[in-house]
Amino acid sequence: MAEIGTDIKKAAALLTQGELVAIPTETVYGLAGNALNIDAVAKIFSAKNRPQFDPLIVHIPSLSFAKNYVHEIPKKAERLAQLFWPGPLTLVLDKKDDIIPALVTSGLNTVGFRSPDHPLARKLLTALPFPLAAPSANPFGYVSPTTPEHVNEQLGNNISYILDGGTCSIGIESTIIGFEEGEPVVLRLGGLSVERIEAVTGKIKVFEHSTSNPVAPGQLKSHYAPGKPLKLGKLEELLQHYPAHEVGILSFSHDYNSKYQRILSPGGNPEEAARNLFQFLRDFDKMPVSIILAELLPDAGLGRAINDRLKRAAAVDN
Ligand code: AMP
Ligand code: MG
Repeated sequence: MAEIGTDIKKAAALLTQGELVAIPTETVYGLAGNALNIDAVAKIFSAKNRPQFDPLIVHIPSLSFAKNYVHEIPKKAERLAQLFWPGPLTLVLDKKDDIIPALVTSGLNTVGFRSPDHPLARKLLTALPFPLAAPSANPFGYVSPTTPEHVNEQLGNNISYILDGGTCSIGIESTIIGFEEGEPVVLRLGGLSVERIEAVTGKIKVFEHSTSNPVAPGQLKSHYAPGKPLKLGKLEELLQHYPAHEVGILSFSHDYNSKYQRILSPGGNPEEAARNLFQFLRDFDKMPVSIILAELLPDAGLGRAINDRLKRAAAVDN
């Protein structure tokens, strides 16, 4: 098992030596390594068992740090960074050369940047002379970790240190924005709602996972899957088809009075639901149930990103 602590100097020293450290962010915990060190980056892929065609997000303290690595920053990217960084927004920009190794970007000519909004992550990033490549700190395909314990349970044997920043305040991965001729498009729904982005940019295109091509492989349909099969639909109807003692129920706000249920937000708040989602999916793994029955949220705000994760979890054949 890995050591869990709050020692930034220790985390910085390990990262400088090319080792991996799990770091807290406001979205989910990241498995971080020096983005400019190809050996460290290779360790990230192998620790997660992540296919090399799935690119990593590069974490930086602010947009000015991206300027060393990209050709030009679209005006609308600058504006979004000004408004939403630090925060749960990844900007995919055109890569200048291979200072950021091709392994980080899976050979694409673009690179995804994010400036995380967590005090420990920010202290660490400012202390280091290099950016951090950090995908979510979970085995590939599984739900993302939102506490240090989640990381330790699954990757504790592959890393030496987990920086403890408590429970993630947003709880769902970043929204990824790419640019087509300077115009923003949503490549992955996430912790910053489309509505908040569109309030600045006007209407933008959203690639839902079903319509995606492999440009952003994080859009793979079967992803974010819990350990048990998940069935999506109207809970009242689904409950008639499965024996009550075998099912875990994941509802948005309704109480089904079951021992094996989790209510994402009793008050019907999508932000609270996002914070609870991954913890609750993990909870079902430890319950004596064989299937998870879940319902979609109203398709607005973070409800949209939560629905995206639920649909992907339901897409896995297991
Ligand atoms: P994770 O940090 O595990 O949520 O995964 C990062 C995700 O970011 C990847 O799966 C991709 O979907 C996306 N991503 C990272 N870099 C790029 C890029 N250059 N172009 C498109 N998508 C990217
Ligand atoms: Mg991930």
